[in-house]
Amino acid sequence: MSSSLEQLKGRLTDVTSLRSAIAVLDWDQQTYMPSGGAHARATTVESLSRLAHEIFTADETRQLLDKAKTEVDPTTDEGALVRVVGRDVDLATKFPSEFVARKTKLAAIAHEDWVKARANNDFKGFEATLTEMFEIAKQEAEYLGYTDHIYDALLDQYEEGATAADCVKMFEALKAGQVPLVKAIQAAKPIDDSALYGEWDAAKQSQFTEFIAKEVGYDFNRGRQDVAPHPFCTTFGIGDVRITTRYKSYIGSAIFGTLHESGHAMYEQGSPADWEGSMLAGGVSLGIHESQSRFWENIVGRSLPFWNRYLPKLQETFPALNGIGVEDFYRQINKVETSFIRVEADELTYNLHVLVRFEIECDILTGKLAVKDLPEAWNAKYTEYLGVTPKTDAEGCLQDVHWSMGSIGYFPTYSMGNVLSYQIWNALKKDIPGAEEGFGRGEFQQVQDWLIEKIYRHGRKFSPKDLVVHATGKPMDPTDYIDGLNAKYRAIYGL
Ligand code: ZN
Repeated sequence: MSSSLEQLKGRLTDVTSLRSAIAVLDWDQQTYMPSGGAHARATTVESLSRLAHEIFTADETRQLLDKAKTEVDPTTDEGALVRVVGRDVDLATKFPSEFVARKTKLAAIAHEDWVKARANNDFKGFEATLTEMFEIAKQEAEYLGYTDHIYDALLDQYEEGATAADCVKMFEALKAGQVPLVKAIQAAKPIDDSALYGEWDAAKQSQFTEFIAKEVGYDFNRGRQDVAPHPFCTTFGIGDVRITTRYKSYIGSAIFGTLHESGHAMYEQGSPADWEGSMLAGGVSLGIHESQSRFWENIVGRSLPFWNRYLPKLQETFPALNGIGVEDFYRQINKVETSFIRVEADELTYNLHVLVRFEIECDILTGKLAVKDLPEAWNAKYTEYLGVTPKTDAEGCLQDVHWSMGSIGYFPTYSMGNVLSYQIWNALKKDIPGAEEGFGRGEFQQVQDWLIEKIYRHGRKFSPKDLVVHATGKPMDPTDYIDGLNAKYRAIYGL
């Protein structure tokens, strides 16, 4: 008779296999599936998800977990596996099935209501379902449990151990450091990046973006790039981590989209090979994951040394870009333009969009703000933090899909990712002086090796907070990020 741990691993392999199959089907749906396949695909995915959930949350799994706990040393990989799976099973079983069904049903209705409300700029048409969705989120938090703030329960699902207090501290610092910078840039001479818009051949964009993804270290023997309307990264196993990109009139859309997803993918590819199929493999949290996508997108991909090396190649691919000097190109790809729309936001203003959503979510969850007063509160915050006032609710509080899906409590992980990307970068530069200059010589291996050593190879073994301290020597601290942004953008805008 094998040990409880071995039996547990056997059950988990079935869950992992089902989840991989779902990921393949989902990838196919977003890339190649004809639209006629949607109905059958939904049924298939629903069945496989149900089977995975049943195996994962069955009494037998719990019993094996309890026994395995007594067999393993908590400081080993096996101890970490038992801890991580225990947490996942807990999260998957906190909600009664009637509650899950109620939320799923409401989300379907809310999504339709949201699409209509946004198209017709009719917040009133969405108000009732959104109110109910926030009620559901409150109840969700009660099922999950919390000690200090209701938000803690929701956020912890995406970022283990992170709290509303952490977010408040982070956003206070970001507000103080970023709002004046954004205002100064708004008053400065705007950058003209019109040369970066045009009709760019898709095949050539594909060729160029694959080239730079390979250069920075995304392993195409264990990955591939395809086209999807919304870029994403998906993992079928450590040996098969795929990305997608999209080709738009803005040349940077594909380039930075690819680098962003490559960052997610390299994190997933960086788990130890012998963890294939283990639930310890992959990224530990949304915030840490986003720190890696932002690292490769912004710190590497929007740096001057990087383009010193790769602009000639880009110009060779797209001769219409000939004549742009590298300094100008660098300024153009770092153009700051305040917009009402989060998904169009640049590196600098993105956090301010997230800040608005975080404050509003907290205020609604704690009863400080009624959903009916949301548009007014939204517009006031945009005016205060970004200096722009949305003219309609469609370009204001109705712009994001997330709340209609009941995804409440995870927006701050985007900002954590931004903050951590610079904190990790500063720690890396201490160990590898001249790393940035190395980008100009196509030297990424030492950077990649450092990230593997400090972050990637640990997969989900440590909690996100422990991992940050382990990698950077301190807990999350927005100082590096704010200093980095100020130095970069004050130079670009001559402030
Ligand atoms: Zn991302």
